[in-house]
This record gives sequence, C-alpha cells and structure tokens, in this order.
Amino acid sequence: MNSKSPTDPAPAEPDPESSVFETEHLDNWPFKGTSLAVLGHPVKHSISPPMHNAALKRMAETDPAFADWRYFKFHVPPGRLPETLSLLHAKRFRGVNLTLPHKTDALPLLTRIDPVAERMGAVNTLVWTADGYEGFNSDGYGLSTAVEEQLGAGLSSQPVILLGAGGAARAAAVQCILDMCPELWLGNRNQDRLKALYRDLLSIRKESSTRLEAFDLSAPPDNLPAPALIINATSAGLAPDSPSPLDLSALKGAFSVYEMIYNPPETALMKEARLRGMRAANGLSMLVHQGVRSLEIWSGAAVPVDAMRTAAENALAT
Ligand code: NDP
Repeated sequence: MNSKSPTDPAPAEPDPESSVFETEHLDNWPFKGTSLAVLGHPVKHSISPPMHNAALKRMAETDPAFADWRYFKFHVPPGRLPETLSLLHAKRFRGVNLTLPHKTDALPLLTRIDPVAERMGAVNTLVWTADGYEGFNSDGYGLSTAVEEQLGAGLSSQPVILLGAGGAARAAAVQCILDMCPELWLGNRNQDRLKALYRDLLSIRKESSTRLEAFDLSAPPDNLPAPALIINATSAGLAPDSPSPLDLSALKGAFSVYEMIYNPPETALMKEARLRGMRAANGLSMLVHQGVRSLEIWSGAAVPVDAMRTAAENALAT
C-alpha cells in the first residue's frame, strides 16, 4: 500500500552547495529545474558547485531562463559510472563534468566524442543529447587561456617544458600541439609512461610544426630551451612540504612557471621560481577557465569569469 497522502510535503529541494549525492538519489531526484553535476571519486572537496552556481546566479540576472539551473556533486565509484550516466540521462541532466577517475573510463559510454577530446584521450564535459551524452574536454582550453591570462604569453609563443605524463599532462601536451607551440619538452619520472605519451603525441603532431623531445625528470638535459614556460602537470606538490619535481637551480635562462596545482596555493616549485625572480601562477585559473568553457557549452551563453573566480577563491578560503 502506498503510505503517501496528498497532504505529504513535497520532497525538500537538494542543497546544491553542500550536499554530496549518490547514484541512489537519482531514483527520486527532487529538483525540477535544469540539473548539472560533477561526478568524482572522491568528490567531497570539489569546488565546482559553488563556481557554477555563482555564475548561473549572475547569468539569471540578465536571462531568467537560467534561474532554475543548479549544479550538484555526486560521489560515484569507478564501477558505477555506466549506470549513473544512464540514470542521469534518463533524468535529463543537461550537463555533466567528470573528474578523477572517470575522464577516460567514460569514453566508451558516449554517443559522440569531440575530436579534440579524442586526441586528449579524456573527456571532462558531457552534454545531453536525445541519443546519449556527447563528450568534450575543456581542460586544454582552460590551461591555454589561464597561461596567457596569468603569465602574459600564450602556449603558441614560447617553448614549453611539461612535467608529468599522466592524464593532465596528456591534455596539456595535446593543447600545446594544437596551439602550435614551437617546442614541447616532456619530462617524467616513469620512463615507460613517458615513452608511451611521446609515441602517441608523435602521431597527433603530424600536421603541427611543434618540435617534440622527452627527458628523464631525475636527470634534466642541459640543452633545455630558454626562455621557456615550465608547466607542472605532476602531482608532486599536492602534499604540503613535498619537494619540487624540478631543480630550477640547474637551469640557465629565463623561465616562467605554470603550476596546475591550486591547493596549496603556492608549491615548492612556485616558491623556488619566485625566489629566482621568475613569474609563477597556480592552477586555480585553469580550473576556472575549464569551468567557464563547460558552462558555455551547456548554456550556449556568455559566462561571467569573475563570478566563477570569486566563488572559487571564496570556496578555497573556507
Ligand atoms: P595522474 O595520476 O594521471 O599523473 C600523475 C603524474 O604525476 C605522473 O606523471 C607521475 O609520474 C607524476 N608524479 C607523481 N608524484 C611525483 C613525484 N613525487 N615526483 C615527480 N613526479 C610525480 O594525475 P593527473 O595527470 O590527473 O593530475 C596531475 C596534477 O594536475 C594533479 O596535481 C592534479 O590536481 C592537477 N590538475 C589540475 C587541474 C586544474 O584545473 N588546475 C586539472 C587536472 C589536473 P610517474 O608517471 O613517474 O608516476
């Protein structure tokens, strides 16, 4: 027997800022507006909900169509991605962001993959279509825009020394090639992983003029280009007090540093660079610009960068 009476209160609207949802919540998803979500494992510390909801609030001031758009976070273990995506599609979630560890696992679950995302081998932005989700990658765009904004020169105008060979490094390397950076030097600790990325990039580089080199991070060659932009796409620096992945004292010439890590806000690499008079920026701007691009893709509208940035800074400060 159904115990619900017509006088039962409607289910409470989920709190998009603080709640962490699970796949089970989708069975009776109470939010009636346009839902967006980030899926991750872990996801608790994601600041994407406050970033997107702040931008949507601002957008609703000039276009009321966005007044009922909300962004939520879902804790989804790796094995549950297929059923979760299928439920999100059935519930008509208009857009989905994917973070670790789902960015590559999602590829076979999509109806279409944007060619840039395909080259990056990863998606972080899914768009609802009648047949299923379509996948994009906004991380490369986020990096490219952030580097130019924070350090005053883009990926196309200087050699890049890229540290790391994981998922973030792969997206960054593809973006460097797409932006026609003159030289791309890849450094990593694990040489098998480095060689695999190098080989993949050789086939992607075909129509680009980017010179491609690879080196062992524990023994950087003395012919590294200078001046150049150093991008840290390793996770060395995530733990407080962890050492820098590259000894800057061994380098000769002028460098600037883009650190993909944003929490802590200053890593050992950034500190060392600043002590040597180099410009250095952390990865918060990349996070903000990838978020801007995702919301542009979902909404088809201009997205206020400053609203997202302020919300991100506030969320990290609390
Ligand atoms: P992966 O796990 O895929 O790759 C990790 C990379 O870090 C590998 O190249 C690994 O090298 C290297 N590494 C780990 N520890 C060390 C160490 N102590 N010394 C040298 N190298 C090390 O991670 P992702 O590629 O997904 O992420 C990398 C970083 O980028 C993370 O810190 C992440 O937070 C950040 N990121 C930031 C984004 C932003 O928007 N700002 C977006 C995406 C990622 P090895 O192969 O030798 O193990």
